[in-house]
Amino acid sequence: MNANLIEPPPGGRKIRYESGRLIVPDEPWVGYVEGDGIGVDITPPCLRIWNAAVKKAYGGRRSIHWVELFLGEKAAKRYAGQYFPDETLRWMKELWVSIKGPLTTPVGGGFRSLNVSLRQALDLYACLRPVRYYRGVPSPLREPERIDVVLFRENTEDVYAGIEYAAGSPENEKLAHFLRSELKAQFFEGAGLGVKPISRFGTERLVRKAIEYAIAHKRRSVTLVHKGNIMKYTEGAFRAWGYELAQREFGSVTVSEEAAARLPGGVAPEGQIIIKDRIADIMFQMMLLRPDEFDVIATPNLNGDYLSDAIAAEVGGMGIAPGANIGDGVAVFEATHGSAPKHAGKNIVNPGSLLFSGVLLLEYLGWDEAAEKIHLAYEKTLADRIVTYDFARLMTDAREVSTSAFADALIERL
Ligand code: NAD
Repeated sequence: MNANLIEPPPGGRKIRYESGRLIVPDEPWVGYVEGDGIGVDITPPCLRIWNAAVKKAYGGRRSIHWVELFLGEKAAKRYAGQYFPDETLRWMKELWVSIKGPLTTPVGGGFRSLNVSLRQALDLYACLRPVRYYRGVPSPLREPERIDVVLFRENTEDVYAGIEYAAGSPENEKLAHFLRSELKAQFFEGAGLGVKPISRFGTERLVRKAIEYAIAHKRRSVTLVHKGNIMKYTEGAFRAWGYELAQREFGSVTVSEEAAARLPGGVAPEGQIIIKDRIADIMFQMMLLRPDEFDVIATPNLNGDYLSDAIAAEVGGMGIAPGANIGDGVAVFEATHGSAPKHAGKNIVNPGSLLFSGVLLLEYLGWDEAAEKIHLAYEKTLADRIVTYDFARLMTDAREVSTSAFADALIERL
């Protein structure tokens, strides 16, 4: 049984989702979870920045009415030890749009990651990770401004299905026996076994989201990243089903790279989105050597896990990489880093990841003007060399400030 501890503020109204579209009032209720560890350091300043940007963009005509929701340690204190209260899940569904700070995965006691549980409970099947460069951010690349990609990572299948059997367990032995005797599979004795499901259904809904995003944001291409040369019936099928979906549902606005090459001049007609594919390992090289050839990326779970962090590192690392987990209508935006307990409560960490997740949220609401104000003010703040400690140590002439002072400086520049 859950208590009713969640109180929406007066004045706001619910967002609705009808016929595949979000209907956003001028004073929407939007959920937020402060988060564990450094959540207390980054969430309040980010709320200040988002509110200030909305005010600046719409002069009081629009405002977000934030509804505090509880997950993780703060939830456990309020809901008698529950880290993942049903009431929060219910509200996340009802509000459609929420944002969350990082959550500590409690150690021991067989806890699953709260983030993974949340994605499954709300069927948030697409993990969205945009990666672009902001002028002034320290980067290991010579030309980091060539990176501007949006990665869609599948969130429910592949290794996230969690179908694994430990070596020596009765389940493992049963499965091993079946595989050897019925399917004539060969592998060493005592191997741990995992199953990697990738379905047409899971692939299609992810690739559909990626193509819809590319159309809405006037992107040039969607790249299917897979390891189909080795895993033909899972990753290879992802590739084949992705192309088929693009052709079947978006045939009038997309063209495959192969078909485009056969056209006169070998280029796609103006405005058509190119659908291409690359093998995962090559993709890591490409994102270092020729990143501007890529735009929207759609990929199964494990490739996406590796690739999104690697690309984020090219433009300033996890401190500023934003993220979102999106299903049909329901979306939970989130900082991509963890709760960094050793820094908690010190008011020193970089609010960038949560801040830009909020920018994505504003874009999801269709409030692009407010989102753009934050992008511009962030660049101005960096141009003035005002940064938190993590960037300061990579720069020579930085003015190192606290998390809250960084928020103040950014708000001044909105
Ligand atoms: P972490 O991301 O919390 O911290 C790793 C290091 O990254 C930190 O020590 C710090 O140096 C740096 N860092 C992280 N965020 C930063 C920021 N905003 N500004 C500056 N530096 C930053 O990873 P971890 O230590 O492996 O995990 C800690 C806890 O967070 C674990 O319980 C883990 O399960 C959880 N976690 C949660 C999420 C999430 O909520 N999305 C993601 C990853 C890890």
